[in-house]
Amino acid sequence: MSPERYQRIRTMLAKRQTDLTVCLENVHKPHNVSAVVRTCDAVGIHRVHTVWEQKYKLPGGTAMGSQQWVRQSNHDTIGDALSHLKSKGMQVLVTHLSDTAVDFRSIDYTKPTAILFGQEKYGATDEAIAMADQDIVIPMLGMVQSLNVSVAAALVLYEAQRQRDIVGMYDQQQLSEQACQEFLFEGGYP
Ligand code: SAM
Repeated sequence: MSPERYQRIRTMLAKRQTDLTVCLENVHKPHNVSAVVRTCDAVGIHRVHTVWEQKYKLPGGTAMGSQQWVRQSNHDTIGDALSHLKSKGMQVLVTHLSDTAVDFRSIDYTKPTAILFGQEKYGATDEAIAMADQDIVIPMLGMVQSLNVSVAAALVLYEAQRQRDIVGMYDQQQLSEQACQEFLFEGGYP
């Protein structure tokens, strides 16, 4: 690895937000997963969480452009996933078009936060909605009911990025030196 490449990866790792994450609940279309992971990389998310039932499990070779830069944890059930995220002290937000949902821009994303996105056709499950701390919605003023899930993810994640940037969270390294070393030397990066 060239010194420039090494430095670029170090700079990326220094900005990773370990207390901001995404949970994809049975989001199963490869181009959607790929687009969300790409946005996660762009806003400095270190790890994404997925819940893929057997019927949605992606083939191992599915190309996700930014996957090598973003860690992934798969959970067997949504209960497992959300319990894990709550045990890390995260507020769990579910993107959901409901009457109780608040505008996604009213949330404080500088808190440890996990944002759940639901399946392309059916949205988030009742179990996810019941376990979440808050429903959030991106206002829809036209004729279609919802956005593509990757578009919704980009909007919410860039609001989180905006808020975190303002308070300087990208200037404070969150990953431990040990985690950076593991990422650098065990990842086999080109
Ligand atoms: N019929 C589904 C429903 O009622 O939830 C639509 C699912 S939508 C195509 C797929 C996912 O995109 C949703 O589960 C949510 O995560 C996200 N999404 C799309 N539009 C949204 C919006 N306006 N507000 C919040 N989340 C949205």
